[in-house]
Amino acid sequence: MKNNIINKLKRYILIVEDEFINQEILKEILSKEYEVLIANNGLEALNILEKSLKPISLILADLNMPIMDGFTLIKELKKDNLYNNIPIIVITGDKDSELNALNLGAVDFITKPFDLKEIILARINRSIKLSEKRIIVKASEKDELTDVYNKHIFEEYVLRIDKYNLDELKDMVVLNLTHFHLYNELYGKDEGDKALIYIADILKDIARINDGIVARLQTDYFALYINHLNDYNELVNKIISDLKDKYNINISIRLGVYTINNKDENVESRINRAKLVCDEISKSNNKFYNVYNEALQQKQLIEEKLVHDFNKAIINKEFKVYYQPKISIIEGKYKLSSAEALVRWIHPELGFISPASFIPLFEENGYIKMLDQYVWNEAAKQIKAWYYKYNLVLPISVNISRIDLFDEKIVETIEKIVKDNNIKPSNLLLEITESAYNNETDQIVEIINKLRDLGFKIEIDDFGSGYSSLNTLATLTFDFLKLDMKFVQDMFKNDKTLKMIGIVSDIAKYLNVKLIAEGVETKEQLNKLKELKYDVIQGYYFSKPVNNIEFEEFFGKDFN
Ligand code: C2E
Ligand code: MG
Ligand code: MG
Repeated sequence: MKNNIINKLKRYILIVEDEFINQEILKEILSKEYEVLIANNGLEALNILEKSLKPISLILADLNMPIMDGFTLIKELKKDNLYNNIPIIVITGDKDSELNALNLGAVDFITKPFDLKEIILARINRSIKLSEKRIIVKASEKDELTDVYNKHIFEEYVLRIDKYNLDELKDMVVLNLTHFHLYNELYGKDEGDKALIYIADILKDIARINDGIVARLQTDYFALYINHLNDYNELVNKIISDLKDKYNINISIRLGVYTINNKDENVESRINRAKLVCDEISKSNNKFYNVYNEALQQKQLIEEKLVHDFNKAIINKEFKVYYQPKISIIEGKYKLSSAEALVRWIHPELGFISPASFIPLFEENGYIKMLDQYVWNEAAKQIKAWYYKYNLVLPISVNISRIDLFDEKIVETIEKIVKDNNIKPSNLLLEITESAYNNETDQIVEIINKLRDLGFKIEIDDFGSGYSSLNTLATLTFDFLKLDMKFVQDMFKNDKTLKMIGIVSDIAKYLNVKLIAEGVETKEQLNKLKELKYDVIQGYYFSKPVNNIEFEEFFGKDFN
């Protein structure tokens, strides 16, 4: 309906002609079908274009005019992005100028004295139609910003390429600009757009050299369909160095490569596979490209399933909290001092799943908050339950993810959990992994101080695994320090590690905090740590994490 109305509206034609009589003749010919605007020379024409709110569908320009002639006008129009798509027909009586004008970019010519009215109209109508078609094609095939294909057209061209190159091995490559949104925020949208345009230019070159095509899929995702390459290092280096050296843009990229073995596979699925590999790289960080393989796909499918199944798992209580004893070894007397709560997922189809497989996923999508609160609550309930059953209070430590620390309500949440279960804050120990302190330190210091004021005890988990270990010690107040288990595992492999383990002990003594070693598996490790004055030991040597029923064996057990 709307289209019909638009079609009935008359298009605008600008006549640029200095002779009044010619103006009148052309007006007479055109005004039935078109709205006609008149300019007396090139300069006037430019003024009209600048002021006109209506799109001009065609310009009819005389070549010989005072002030600004037709040639100059055409040159000016071609220079301007706004006007260089408007078709220009020149009016001329001279064969040579006609050729010149066509060379400059005019689409057609009409001769003076004027031909039959019908001929003139036909030429004008045809030129307008052609130019509109070209604009529509351009708008729908190409991405406006970067002038590469859009996804839809790309998919069609991939099929066309396949059709004529059935035997050639091809790669589908998806490229992403790493942390592009940060770049955009840092330098502004215009600079972001420039980066996209430059990368598209580089990719066009690459596509040309490798018999392929390029498309922009989404904001900062591009796809290439090119001849197969065995090694992508050179290509990656070229892109990065071109961006840097040619365009002065410091942005990293990652590529996912999927080699097409089966040309019957639909194009969308090929793109998805390449993108999947591309996205996988962000998790490892130290690579620029990755090639698709079945194992990777399997891993991603499982991850997707885990994310998908999360809510159901919470409702069905598929998450189980296991407990691992922490044994105090002070003065050679071994006794159970607390337990660490460690979550497991007993999945109805996949069976036992270790937290290492799902915690990082849920940290990424935010589910970790719900999961952790569930675990904290279970641990608090367990403290209460054992108190009623055995008349003893066994403190339990829970893990706090760095994501939890961004939650403004975290202090209230934890406080409520201990209140609801009627336990003392000092019995729910809070383990915060060292790497959590790497950023947003002020906020974290504030949260930790609040929690300590309320009586909670803070344990720094995995100490020595992060980048700012000493800084952590200097900025935070805490109660327990737990050495990262890597040190224990390597303690007899070299003298340096052993020396470090000793130094950490000195630091803990100096700071007056209790020192814990985890991952202790052998008697030799235990004895050495005892010698180095470690206070608490956690590890398979004493026990693996077990469920709450099995754990009850440890009450009253002699660990010496
Ligand atoms: P973590 O907090 O450092 O926990 C210690 C991990 O070491 C546990 O792995 C434990 O089973 C394992 N471990 C204990 N003793 C030994 C030993 O002697 N040898 C070896 N090789 N390993 C030992 P798990 O249960 O797989 O947990 C892995 C990590 O997942 C935990 O490291 C923790 O960062 C995270 N995690 C576990 N449960 C939760 C939870 O409820 N919430 C959050 N946010 N993270 C959790
Ligand atoms: Mg822990
Ligand atoms: Mg740890």
